[in-house]
Amino acid sequence: MLITHELVDLLSSEGLKLRDTKSPLSDPAISARHRLSRRDTLQKSFKVGAREFKWRSTQTPDDCAWCLQNEGKTFGPDIIEQVERQCTCAPYCRGYIEPQLDDLLR
Ligand SMILES: [Zn+2]
Repeated sequence: MLITHELVDLLSSEGLKLRDTKSPLSDPAISARHRLSRRDTLQKSFKVGAREFKWRSTQTPDDCAWCLQNEGKTFGPDIIEQVERQCTCAPYCRGYIEPQLDDLLR
């Protein structure tokens, strides 16, 4: 398997989500950061050829019904639009997209 800069960037981006969630940022700022992170993951995934993505919720009481119902479901490149149109998590959504890279790594 060829390790590209894009793949390293993508994996690093995923790793950032594992950091401590405590932050002095306000809810709108945290919401924007999560949205930006999802978009960043999507763009980097496109660069390495990923076209399918699983939705991952936090599986906590903070998740809205849509996020819980779609946990693990596979979406196409429009996953961000689907989440932003249907998710009602409050004060913000902490779900993330998981690019499906298995086919690309063979
Ligand atoms: Zn939600």
